[in-house]
Amino acid sequence: MIKPVFECRMCGSCCEGKGGIIVSPKDLERICAFLQMDAASFTERYGVMHNGKLKIRTGDDGCCIFFAQGRGCTVHEGKPDICRAWPFFRGNLVDPESLHMAKEFCPGIAPDVSHAAFAAEGRRYLREHDLCAHDATCEANALIDK
Ligand code: SF4
Ligand code: SF4
Repeated sequence: MIKPVFECRMCGSCCEGKGGIIVSPKDLERICAFLQMDAASFTERYGVMHNGKLKIRTGDDGCCIFFAQGRGCTVHEGKPDICRAWPFFRGNLVDPESLHMAKEFCPGIAPDVSHAAFAAEGRRYLREHDLCAHDATCEANALIDK
C-alpha cells in the first residue's frame, strides 16, 4: 500500500489565527446549507468583512469560531474550499522551502515525502475535488489556478 502524503491529525493548528478563512460565494452557499441558515444571518453571526472579503471570525481562543478542541471542525461537511485544499496550497506545490515550513506546522504531512510527490498528489487532489481557483470572486490566493 502506498503511504499517503497527507493524513490530518486534527491538531487544529491550521484553524488558528485571525482572518485567514475566506468565504467565497460558493462557500457561503455550501456552509449556509449545512448550517441551515441564510447568508445574511451567517455573515452577521460568524463573518467578518476584511478588505471587501468575507472571512470567518475567530473565537476568544484565537481559533476559527467553528473549531472545537477534541472535536475538530464542527462544520466539516460545509467548510470553505480554502480549508478543503490545505495543505495543498499553491505555495507548497511550487516551492520546496514552503513545503518544508508547512511540514513543521502541520503534523499531517508525511515528514519524508518529497516535494515532487507532494506536488503531484496535491494537484491530483485539487482537480479531483474541484478546488482550483477558477472562481474570480473567491480570490483565495492559496488555491492554485492551473
Ligand atoms: S495542521 Fe495539519 S494535522 Fe493539524 S488540523 Fe490542520 S491539516 Fe490537520
Ligand atoms: S471552517 Fe473548519 S477547517 Fe476551516 S478553519 Fe474553521 S474549523 Fe478549521
